[in-house]
Amino acid sequence: RGPGGQRGIPFTKPGSLTKVYAVASGKGGVGKSSVTVNLACALAAQGLRVGIVDADVHGFSVPALMGIDQKPTQVDDMILPPVAYGVKVISIGMFVAGNQPVAWRGPMLHRALEQFLTDVYFGDLDALFLDLPPGTGDIAISVAQLLPNAEILVVTTPQAAAADVAERAGTIATQTGQKVAGVIENMSYLEMPDGGRMELFGSGGGAILAERLSAAVGSDVPLLGQIPLDIRLREGGDAGKPVVLAAPETAAAKAMEGIASAL
Ligand code: ADP
Repeated sequence: RGPGGQRGIPFTKPGSLTKVYAVASGKGGVGKSSVTVNLACALAAQGLRVGIVDADVHGFSVPALMGIDQKPTQVDDMILPPVAYGVKVISIGMFVAGNQPVAWRGPMLHRALEQFLTDVYFGDLDALFLDLPPGTGDIAISVAQLLPNAEILVVTTPQAAAADVAERAGTIATQTGQKVAGVIENMSYLEMPDGGRMELFGSGGGAILAERLSAAVGSDVPLLGQIPLDIRLREGGDAGKPVVLAAPETAAAKAMEGIASAL
């Protein structure tokens, strides 16, 4: 039996047309999960078939961001994921009671991820997003082993120190041989009432990171976009409706759309 047992992981089968993106960050709170759900919803709104695996097992937040409180259903030996805004979503948060923390260690995490990828029936997908835990933990290695074709998207803030930590998350790809699809800078600026931009977290982190990762992996890693701070992005998350759907007119939503189109 190969990875995932007899059935195997459909996204790694020869001829699979699914683009797999693992969304990574150096540290928590930079907007990795917000980016994941917005990119997924933007692509689904364009008519693509999209899934999300919330692999941030210790800090799962995708179900709340997507407004999902249903549990997956089981049919025979298949798990059918809940669907929100046309996106199929599976999260460890759907298998724990209430808001319990998950204190699993490496091998259990690996097995859980493997099971998600094997037993959850996503059907044919155009794009699958994995919301990774922050940092360069066991899950990033597991993703590389289970889904060697996954491309990494690295989310950072404009702060130089944040870019430093994110670089470590990105350069893991050099060890695993994965492609780094690009850098996404979030919380880039706040638009002021007079139209000016306040750079709360400094500037340049995304560009610096893209440059350094390009050098590290030896191929061009683009800065895919810069997402401003916007109250409506946070509100959309709290309300379970991503900003690309809740407030598409905002600069933050347009930035997400632009990044989704560049994928
Ligand atoms: P991570 O997955 O990296 O831990 P989250 O996506 O959970 O980060 O975001 C952390 C918090 O910051 C959330 O409350 C989210 O709503 C908020 N947030 C993220 N990006 C923005 C943004 N561009 N503007 C406003 N709030 C944001």
